[in-house]
Amino acid sequence: MTDNNKNTITLYPSNWLYNAGVVGFLRVLEELKVEYQIEECAKIELDKLNEDKIFEVWHGITKDKLQISYKGKSRGTQRYYYANQTEKSLKNKIKTLLQINGETKKGRINLCCAFCGYTYPTTKSKLKVLNQTYGNVLLGSEKSFPNTYWMLKSREFICSKCEFIIMCHHIPFIGIGLDKAKNKEQTEIFLNTPFFILTKDLNQFAENFLKREKENEIRKLFASTLIQWAIKRRALLGAWTIMNIEVIVKRRILVDKTKRKWETIIDYFDLPYHITRILLDYEIANLINMIGEEKIFDLIVSGKFSELEKANYFVLRSILKLKNKEKISENDPVTKYVDNYRDLNHLAKVSSLLPELYAKIIKTL
Ligand SMILES: [Zn+2]
Repeated sequence: MTDNNKNTITLYPSNWLYNAGVVGFLRVLEELKVEYQIEECAKIELDKLNEDKIFEVWHGITKDKLQISYKGKSRGTQRYYYANQTEKSLKNKIKTLLQINGETKKGRINLCCAFCGYTYPTTKSKLKVLNQTYGNVLLGSEKSFPNTYWMLKSREFICSKCEFIIMCHHIPFIGIGLDKAKNKEQTEIFLNTPFFILTKDLNQFAENFLKREKENEIRKLFASTLIQWAIKRRALLGAWTIMNIEVIVKRRILVDKTKRKWETIIDYFDLPYHITRILLDYEIANLINMIGEEKIFDLIVSGKFSELEKANYFVLRSILKLKNKEKISENDPVTKYVDNYRDLNHLAKVSSLLPELYAKIIKTL
């Protein structure tokens, strides 16, 4: 993991929890104005970093996001998101991450870290396994964690280099509403992909989109994010990458009202491969964006492509009606497809774009 000559660390994509941790850690570095390289992997120079600075920024973001503070804490954090941590224990974890050779412990058993894949010697007494120290997302981990793409089991070994990284996983999660009266039931999402740069991009787009649109339906938010990405980046992604783009949905729910018991549940969401591929096509994405009609967008996201032809027929019919100064009633079939159906210029634009959109989709399938 560490390059020998310089104190540079290279992080490789792994399971979603780790990927979220890396994206979170990168965000901490951004606030510190630390430069790093990011493509499929992330390469970070650690020379100018120290644990106090990193802790300060991490603490600021964490306090903001989770309404908990580890600053000055030496105990009393059993029920915190990262259980039983103190300012000192967190700083120690950061320090280990920054050291050239993080894993200095000697031991008789060699274990492979569930996240970075490196093998380290350890002893039974010092063995660190995944538990709620690394986030109460892992509470009842038997239930919530084994269904990850990489099939983790709850007794996985975690190396000391990865410990702090995992404790950054809460940072990139984006809240999508249901935050009834602060700090209550909440849904958050994280978009996971096999490349760090794509993961970072998609989550940024999703966050920006949410700021504008307040859309909290995961399917639509996900689809819009993919479209925005395709338009801005104009890059082609391989089939394997497209198949592995997923949304991690983290829900915090009240399971027992009287005992005020909360539980974090993890769900996964993805769109069918052919839909994702369509949304990531630059030209298609651009056409959808230009049409700017939510119902047309819905048809595509739900794979009802043949209805686009129908939609176009009704749009054309409405254009004629408007030209003949006829009124379009609220029950007119065009209302099933277009919201802005009384605007002749808009309808003309839609009718010029819809056939092209349909043809491009059919070609892609
Ligand atoms: Zn590791």
